[in-house]
Amino acid sequence: MFSAKTVELKSDREISVMRQAGVIVADTLKLLSAAVRPGMTTGELDRLAHAELLRRKAKPAFLGYHGFPKSLCVSVNSEVVHGIPSDKRKLSEGDIVSLDFGCVVGGLYADAAVTVPVGKVSKAAEKLISVTRESLMMGIDQVKADGRLGDVGSAVQRHCEANGYSVVRDFVGHGIGRALHEDPPVPNFGKPGTGMRLQPGLVIAIEPMVNAGGPEVETLDDGWTAVTKDGSLSAHFEHTVALTEKGAEILTEGTA
Ligand code: MG
Repeated sequence: MFSAKTVELKSDREISVMRQAGVIVADTLKLLSAAVRPGMTTGELDRLAHAELLRRKAKPAFLGYHGFPKSLCVSVNSEVVHGIPSDKRKLSEGDIVSLDFGCVVGGLYADAAVTVPVGKVSKAAEKLISVTRESLMMGIDQVKADGRLGDVGSAVQRHCEANGYSVVRDFVGHGIGRALHEDPPVPNFGKPGTGMRLQPGLVIAIEPMVNAGGPEVETLDDGWTAVTKDGSLSAHFEHTVALTEKGAEILTEGTA
């Protein structure tokens, strides 16, 4: 059970190592976003990501995590998160594709995600991507000393729902540091002025998963891929964010 006592605040030194991991995650997502095109497979994206990690001498965060078989999660259209890259899965013009990626440097993790269009996409898809990205930035704006965790989730939720979308409840953001997923859980919903008090040294991954339709998700037979229950499109953005004495710092800045 989560309590504020189980949250491990990070030292400046740990945050500086996480900053290095964050740069690698951001650079890799930028490279992948630029590579996305109709006709390529999601398996190719995974190989690009893994090769970049090796080149930068970092370790994959996802490969082998609870048995996840790849270094990158690639979730297409109605897939919400945890899509498994495959050479059989080809991207088509008009798809939207969420790329979720993490790495480890010196035993410390960084984690981020972006959703990008494949070629030309519908206005509706463009808007879902924009609103999801904006909701992440609005959540990050609430990361300040003496703020509350509920302020973050509430800001994300309010913006998404004002645009007619739903935030996923079954998956949430998380603390991050010596492990990929640490306390506290960081929901994309909540009430302002409630939840854990934010303080310097806190590092969290904020990751709105936003559905054009209802919030319900289900997991495919592969045991990983989460999809929207109603088949509606879903987008996902994520940053690893540190709260320091100077304020909030996005450690995975510059993803796309
Ligand atoms: Mg995450």
